[in-house]
Amino acid sequence: MASLRFFGGVNEIGGNKILLEDGDARVWLDFGEPFEIGSEYYTGWLQPRSNNVLGDLLEFDLLPRLRGLFAERLLRNTGMDYCEPEFDAVFITHAHFDHVNHLGFLDPEIPVYTGTGTKLFMEAMERTSNYTDYGEHEYRCFRTGEKIRVGDLELEPIHVDHSIPGAYGYIIHTSGGSLVYTGDMRAHGPKQEMTEEFLEAASEAEPDAMISEGTRMAPRERRRNLSEAQVLEGVERVCAQADRDGKAIVYTHGPRDMDRLRTFYEAAGGCGRQLVINPKTAHLLLRLVEDEHLDLPDPQRDDRIAVYYRRKRSCEYQETDYYVWEREFMDRMVTAEEVRRRPTDYLINVGFYSFTELIDIRPEMGSHFVYSMSEPFNEEDLEAQVMHNWLRHFWLRYHQLHASGHMSREELEEAIGRVNPGKLFPVHTENPQMFTRVHERAVLPVLGKIYEL
Ligand SMILES: [Zn+2]
Ligand SMILES: [Zn+2]
Repeated sequence: MASLRFFGGVNEIGGNKILLEDGDARVWLDFGEPFEIGSEYYTGWLQPRSNNVLGDLLEFDLLPRLRGLFAERLLRNTGMDYCEPEFDAVFITHAHFDHVNHLGFLDPEIPVYTGTGTKLFMEAMERTSNYTDYGEHEYRCFRTGEKIRVGDLELEPIHVDHSIPGAYGYIIHTSGGSLVYTGDMRAHGPKQEMTEEFLEAASEAEPDAMISEGTRMAPRERRRNLSEAQVLEGVERVCAQADRDGKAIVYTHGPRDMDRLRTFYEAAGGCGRQLVINPKTAHLLLRLVEDEHLDLPDPQRDDRIAVYYRRKRSCEYQETDYYVWEREFMDRMVTAEEVRRRPTDYLINVGFYSFTELIDIRPEMGSHFVYSMSEPFNEEDLEAQVMHNWLRHFWLRYHQLHASGHMSREELEEAIGRVNPGKLFPVHTENPQMFTRVHERAVLPVLGKIYEL
């Protein structure tokens, strides 16, 4: 008999860790980190020790205490003994933090299945971030529609549209019937036909159960929701206005949202400005152009792209000031001085954590700032307050333009109706109880409990 256990993504958005067992086969669906892991115990500078992270998380049951799961070298001082792996594989839906970030704790002997694009994202992250380490694993890359057998299980990944390329849902055949897992998905994005394909296949499978994300399942929509095309129109309007006034445009968006990057790239091209990205994004793009399915601009060849270098070490933009991976784009360099001198030549990306660059760029009063991310949930959001203080200090005009990576409540309800599963397990949501109104057999998962399919 096949069964499910939920060790993350329960009553929270993100942190999915779902264990599927069928006879001898034991596989994980995602192995992510919750966005606010352990906030009851860890805060500010009080954080798990870097040499004992696993033990310091297990102390508060913030990870599943299961045998044969964790890497031997991390088990010291945890009170758990090492044993050979007792899990067959991990199947990843996409490369967002809340779906992959705890892979680093796993026994390297447990193979990890990802989409080809997802693997490129993960490699770029490990190369360019000092805080990302997914550990050593045997990676097995798939493409949409491939069928993968693990014991009695057969898993079929099918692409979906989400705010990161290379996202998948799964259709899984078990001895207890078939199961659909959505991962994260949206219906209104530029690649909506992929989600459509997934839902079509999911409905044809006549699944006995469905694990559905529910990010936007909320009593009322708190945010304005645009499509990607509407975001583009909005950015184009800002560009036209900035061209008329001869002003700079600064923007920020989710670092892995390549649809959004393409939107800014198109808007920049439309008004004859160069898109200025940071070396980290340039490195990511350089990796992603390897996957021709993604159809992204090449940061080393495309003249419409330039790369912003901030002053480091010598403060004189010398090659040795930068990491090796950062040096690959130095012939495309744009500096703060250049942006200041020719504000209308560029559309420049400055993320919130790099706002100190604004001190060097010193955009003229009345320049534009496009915040292309979701608005904070509440007015007490400290970062939002700080951001607006900076914008006021530099007299920047604020524009918020964003399209969500997730289905709206209506779209989700329609999708579930179409797939029409026997049972419905809501995950990745703060409002699982709302699913009981969508489906008569909605099962609200409890952390660690066993559910037969
Ligand atoms: Zn997620
Ligand atoms: Zn996601």
